Amino acid sequence: MIDVGILGATGVVGQQFVRLLDKHPWFRVSWLAASERSAGKRYDELAWRLASPLPPHIGALRVAPLDAVDDAPSLLFSALDSSVAGEAEVAYASSGRLVVSNARNHRMDPLVPLLIPEVNPDHVGLLGVQRRARGGNWTTGGIVTNPNCAVIVVAMVLAALRQFRPSRVVVTTMQALSGAGYPGVPSLDAVGNVIPYIGGGEEEKIENEAVKLLGDFDGSVVRNAPFVVSAAVNRVPVPDGHTAAISIDLAAEPSIADVVAALDAFTSEPQARALPSAPPKPIIVHQAPDRPQPRLDVATGNGMPVHCGRVRPCPVLGYKLVALGHNVVRGAAGAALLNAELLVARGMTASDAQGRERDVTHTAGRP
Ligand code: NAP
Repeated sequence: MIDVGILGATGVVGQQFVRLLDKHPWFRVSWLAASERSAGKRYDELAWRLASPLPPHIGALRVAPLDAVDDAPSLLFSALDSSVAGEAEVAYASSGRLVVSNARNHRMDPLVPLLIPEVNPDHVGLLGVQRRARGGNWTTGGIVTNPNCAVIVVAMVLAALRQFRPSRVVVTTMQALSGAGYPGVPSLDAVGNVIPYIGGGEEEKIENEAVKLLGDFDGSVVRNAPFVVSAAVNRVPVPDGHTAAISIDLAAEPSIADVVAALDAFTSEPQARALPSAPPKPIIVHQAPDRPQPRLDVATGNGMPVHCGRVRPCPVLGYKLVALGHNVVRGAAGAALLNAELLVARGMTASDAQGRERDVTHTAGRP
């Protein structure tokens, strides 16, 4: 078992980490941190907002303040608010810890992998580049990120259709309230309403992160994918699950049946390695004309698959479909967990790196 910690353990995503890590076959949560508001309290003294029970051994842990860097284990999940994640994650990474983050702060850093294990598993190689470039304790630590919760839905679809050479993509999202964290959007703004704006550069994140995710890693840099994305985002009164209406121009001009078959057959390294959190089918294609729907589909497979439906011709771009993903699981805690599992499977954790450092030192000392 590998000891892990959670930065931002008290928030919407942090609590999902606690839930998903309970009884995980490889990871054991031994340390939690959050703001000064929560620090010093037992975790079970704080509000638990999930339907599943709080695991008692986690409830007994005392929440550490964010500056308790030296007490943290070597593998950390970050669900920190972006106002503090940037600096805090650097502090932990530069102390030799590997930070697997949900926050937006470092996603577009050219030295930081922006990773979805089904989409771009080879981009983990960028962690080695980061460690060499930053030196010091970074050589065993580092930062790895998962994308924005809406981007994951779009990127999985584009990865499945990569062979058909996407050139232009138009995305309109309908994003759940849980995407705004807790307490999130005021109820009087949200109920019975659609808000055609999400702050924090949500549209730009979809447009920019998708081309990094689908880009080529040549062993030293990631070159953005050669397509353009236009995004329009909306906040809707749905608890969990981001829906995206996607139109795509595919240069290879496949038939609709070929597009459906490619989505349905999509599989990648997490499935080949049978990583513990990998869904057997990363994309579930629905045939019913009124699916996928958040209420009916988002919890399938513990929230890890992306759902697609209504694959049909688009008179403007050629192809259009609807996609859905669980924003807090597949778009956040589950995404980071799968990233960490890939890092373990590929021998890239901080303790693996320490082992390699030791080997190099011993070898260098030999005659
Ligand atoms: P949240 O519910 O607001 O939780 C934020 C967490 O950050 C809490 O644990 C909070 O601790 C901690 N925090 C806030 N200010 C702090 C400070 N000054 N010092 C130390 N800790 C502080 O937000 P969330 O929805 O879980 O999102 C967490 C991160 O994941 C964000 O960066 C967000 O952008 C990203 N993300 C969220 C989603 C989603 O669907 N919700 C999806 C993808 C990515 P206290 O409880 O002690 O205040």
